Amino acid sequence: MNKITCDMCKDLMPLVKDGIASADSCLAVKEHLKECEACKQLYENESTDFLELNMDLELELGKLKRKLQIFSVVLMMFGVFFGLSLTASQEMFYNSLIMPVIGALGYVIFRWKAIYQIPLLLLVMQCLINFLGLARGMEYMPFVAILMWVGIYTIFVELGVLVAGLLHFAFKKDK
Ligand SMILES: [Zn+2]
Repeated sequence: MNKITCDMCKDLMPLVKDGIASADSCLAVKEHLKECEACKQLYENESTDFLELNMDLELELGKLKRKLQIFSVVLMMFGVFFGLSLTASQEMFYNSLIMPVIGALGYVIFRWKAIYQIPLLLLVMQCLINFLGLARGMEYMPFVAILMWVGIYTIFVELGVLVAGLLHFAFKKDK
């Protein structure tokens, strides 16, 4: 059997752990670990440390992702309410800025499903806001007008979704 030294064993350990060492190297390392307590300790400690670190990192990333999503939902709902309540008012042009942001936030929450989920949300919310406005004695807006406005907003929303999606895609590719 081919014996290896401690130094050779240490060199081979990362390769064995990553599963890219040759069968002979794996065997040689295993044989050495059976006989050498120092290397065995090193091999076991390093692998668990590495695993724990990875798990901690994944946990933290998961928490961060959830926080970002909750934040996006709150911000998006605020934007939807604010933006839609401007419909047919003089400040309506702000919506050409608000709607792309809503689209981008929608991508963070729904990914590509935002393409149809945000317009649907806008339609439902615009109907609701109009109903509430009607109750407060505001002017009645025909359903055709609501459809038209939501249609226009949708164009801006999709722009935001597209930009957010492409940025996300480019960032993933970079990593
Ligand atoms: Zn050794």
